[in-house]
Amino acid sequence: MKIPGVKGMNDLLPAEVGRWQEMEQVARELFGRYGYREVRVPVVEHAALYARGVGENTDIVQKEMYAFEDKGEELLCLRPEATAGLVRAFIEHGLHVEGPQKWFALGPMFRRERPQKGRYRQFHQLDIEAFGIAEPAIDVEQIAMAADFFAALGVAVQLKLNSVGDGSCRPAYLQELQGWLRERKGQLCVDCNDRMERNPLRVLDCKVEGCQPVLAQAPRLLDRLCAGCAAHHAAVTGGLGALGIPFTVDTRLVRGLDYYVRTAYEFTSDAIGSQSSVAGGGRYDKLVETLGGPPTPGIGFAIGQERLAMVMAAVGRPVPSRQPELFLISADEAGARECLSRAVALRRAGVACDLDARGGKLARQFKQAERVGARYALVLGEKEVGSGQAKLKDMKTREETPVALADLPDRFRPT
Ligand code: ATP
Ligand code: MG
Repeated sequence: MKIPGVKGMNDLLPAEVGRWQEMEQVARELFGRYGYREVRVPVVEHAALYARGVGENTDIVQKEMYAFEDKGEELLCLRPEATAGLVRAFIEHGLHVEGPQKWFALGPMFRRERPQKGRYRQFHQLDIEAFGIAEPAIDVEQIAMAADFFAALGVAVQLKLNSVGDGSCRPAYLQELQGWLRERKGQLCVDCNDRMERNPLRVLDCKVEGCQPVLAQAPRLLDRLCAGCAAHHAAVTGGLGALGIPFTVDTRLVRGLDYYVRTAYEFTSDAIGSQSSVAGGGRYDKLVETLGGPPTPGIGFAIGQERLAMVMAAVGRPVPSRQPELFLISADEAGARECLSRAVALRRAGVACDLDARGGKLARQFKQAERVGARYALVLGEKEVGSGQAKLKDMKTREETPVALADLPDRFRPT
């Protein structure tokens, strides 16, 4: 009996993996240049971390968590997002004493959503967090880094920015918004009706077409920010302007996680249809305290790797792959032994070199050389082993040139 993979969880096969390696390579290099250091935290945490951190009333916690009792001892969960776990680690290791920290992390996240194109139950994120900096300069720097990242991968994205206020201006707004929404119950969808009671800000995010004309008239938090939030927002938009980073202010942009304050933003791409959000993030100045740490501001964002891979494919970015420079082909038993030892020696010298370990007919070995995209092929048999001379075949032009076997490492050594 065949046992299938789990619904909503994907395999990443060799034909595609080059794309992922490329985005991770670019991320490590670029984020490193911006002063962010990689951290690795577990995929499993206490479920309470997300109930407290992400918010009891969010979809993520209410409906989507993979929580389980670990042998009846404690309630654990597969992480639905990265920030809460990173904050937990930051607190647990007392790193606030070392001053501001800039971190990045990558890996799988788990949400039991309805699987569809661009939305999976196991998905992957590149996560960026900065702890200990309240100033808007870090908001600008992080957004600039994200913009550089997408540019380096050749994808065009749109940046949408908003301020979701903070503890001094949001509560009054939420009351006003809730009252306003309750008066329009009949004009809004079931989800909106449910959300206006539990999490009114989320209503603004509704994608149902019929709700749009109503929600477009909703009171705007951006017009009701307290002085501190308004100044912060102005500094962020000003900073982005000074760096020439294009953005639009979207007054209805909210995030699915409760911990955000002030800056909230999203990068979208119109190359991938309805699940167009490629990255999202914002400021979370109270989260460290909420999770039991010392008052520490924070800001971060997460890039969805599946979505990014889709955009890269949609814009026709080629998948990088490492093809062998040289493919060794054996004509007989002496040749097979020679191929094996030469291949190992060449690889040790830094050359990407392959062979068909099955041996056998020349035609089949040449076919394999073609299949793996080898640049050159070299046939080795008793004759070549004896003379130390062989013919190097260019797999594209089919041209053959004589070479001395002793010269191979130098000829193919990467420069
Ligand atoms: P969406 O509005 O698409 O549900 P979100 O607000 O839930 O996104 P975040 O929690 O901020 O997203 O995660 C950041 C990024 O992770 C998103 O922009 C998206 O690219 C990606 N992402 C989120 N959920 C999924 C999922 N179920 N499958 C694949 N990628 C996802
Ligand atoms: Mg979501």
